[in-house]
Amino acid sequence: MTLNSRWDFCYDPRMDQYKTRQDIPEKYKWNLNLIYPSSKDWEQDFAKLEAALVAVERYRGRLAQSAKTLHDAFEDQAKLDLLIERLYSYAHHLSDEDTRNSENLGRVDRIRSKASEAGARISWMDPELLETPLEALKKFHSDPVLVTHARRIELLIRSKPHQRSAEVEEVLSLASEPLGGAYKAFSLLENADMKIPHAKDADGKEHELNHATYSACLESSDRILRKNAFETYFSAYAQYQNTFAATLDAHVKKQIFYAKTRRFPSAIEASLFSDQIPVAVYDGLISTVHRHLPLLHRWVALKKRELKLPEMNLYDLFYPMVKPAKVEIPYDEGCRMVVEAVKPLGEDYSKALESAFHERWIDVFYTPGKRGGAYSGGMYTSKPYILLNHKNNLNSTFTLAHELGHSLHSYYSNRYQPYQTANYPIFLAEVASTTSEMLLHFHLNEQAQSKEMKLYLLDHLFTQFRGTLFRQVQFAEFERDVHAMAEGGEPLTAQTLSETYAAIQEKFYGPDMVMHDLVKYEWTRIPHFYYNFYVYKYSTSFAAAQYFAKKIFEGDLAVRDRYIEFLKSGSSRDPLDTLKRAGVDLGDSKPIEAAFKVFEEALDEFEKMR
Ligand SMILES: [Zn+2]
Repeated sequence: MTLNSRWDFCYDPRMDQYKTRQDIPEKYKWNLNLIYPSSKDWEQDFAKLEAALVAVERYRGRLAQSAKTLHDAFEDQAKLDLLIERLYSYAHHLSDEDTRNSENLGRVDRIRSKASEAGARISWMDPELLETPLEALKKFHSDPVLVTHARRIELLIRSKPHQRSAEVEEVLSLASEPLGGAYKAFSLLENADMKIPHAKDADGKEHELNHATYSACLESSDRILRKNAFETYFSAYAQYQNTFAATLDAHVKKQIFYAKTRRFPSAIEASLFSDQIPVAVYDGLISTVHRHLPLLHRWVALKKRELKLPEMNLYDLFYPMVKPAKVEIPYDEGCRMVVEAVKPLGEDYSKALESAFHERWIDVFYTPGKRGGAYSGGMYTSKPYILLNHKNNLNSTFTLAHELGHSLHSYYSNRYQPYQTANYPIFLAEVASTTSEMLLHFHLNEQAQSKEMKLYLLDHLFTQFRGTLFRQVQFAEFERDVHAMAEGGEPLTAQTLSETYAAIQEKFYGPDMVMHDLVKYEWTRIPHFYYNFYVYKYSTSFAAAQYFAKKIFEGDLAVRDRYIEFLKSGSSRDPLDTLKRAGVDLGDSKPIEAAFKVFEEALDEFEKMR
């Protein structure tokens, strides 16, 4: 199950067009009846779950009896998984239409708890197979009966050296709950216990600060509000710096514990193992970005000039250099723009994209109670639905292109892969969404009539680069370094963490950025540091997408065809292999360098126009 989500724009009640869902024309609402015609049909399927689960349980203790038995067990498991996905996607999409509806919430709760029960009741499968001798597993791997399951067996064989004895495995599984406390404590501290005071603007008016309103305050044109919001917000976190250091320390120690017990040389190697990413690729990404930091410094200097600031501070980063182009783009017009923008991807892609509108995959507008943000949720047997909270502006049009990129990736993988290998890995998840956004960027830039529009598009692009390539790599470096510190026996305290963070921050933003004393505490508020070497995947996906989009926009048909093959490939190979076949070799620094070329050209273009 993949839920690709993006929660990057806040709901603005002034942009309301509709009061209730009934007011919205059908064509702007997703058609969930394609999953189940009615909730009665959902209930009928839900009633089949227990039998499907029992069908899988029958194989316990005899999975490896023969290739045929293993095949049948895997097939029955796939039937169970598909049933759960279908039930879950209907329940959660329906509930997202109005999160206050208790009948819908009840359905989500029921399928969630049944799915987690199912997970627990069949959790013996992989361990049972891992106890099978290597030779037998290899035979299964090459057995024609198991051809659709070969990838799964290959991954099991690969992880066999890290499997421990039954007794150790039992202890490890018992330890997972008590070891999971770090993130829980972090999240409760910042979401429930921490009280953040209000921030005053230039007129003395108070603004409530929480995770959502904080970013809105930083985009304000009122610099006093930006400064106050930043100082108030970061001071609140700094107050709990020792507790945040303890939660992060506990998380890092947990990762080190698992790496050691699973016989990996380090926590980073254990984390990169499942995607088969060599540590050299991770390190290479960081050093390539380091070599291009002068471009970020140039952008900081440009922004300081453009905003006519006496000094540039962290709280000035988010205020746009160019005011959002005041053009209103109705949703239908936005759709047409995306359709035009993806034309270089060919007829087949365009046709598939059009079906998103004709078959009503998209729930477009906000109504009270609807889930916020935007996501694409692609299930194997259902349409890759999209939830939006669309406003008639350019930002929302980019979000539409982004989510359609995800959905078309799901569409192609689901169509061309068997269920077992359809679900593309997180490592590749943002490639298609970013490619789609970049194609829209190039298309609009080419079409733009006014200088303002061109500048706005470039400013939008700078924001993407700063947030996805530079910032995520900055996080990736911090994450790598603090794990290495702990592994080297250095204590992770509020002081050592803050010093490490400050040094990286200073290096990234360069001489034109003032290091406010509170910036060093930023690590306290980043949930991604608890996600286990995750953020670098945003950067590699983003860089690969720059390559694809630029070549495809320029009309390179060979790259276009390789890109479509990439969309069809799901998780049939390791992510680096998948990208390499599509022409992006992340073992080399060239693709990342090419992405920086796009950034540099955009800087040149912007500066030339001023
Ligand atoms: Zn995304």
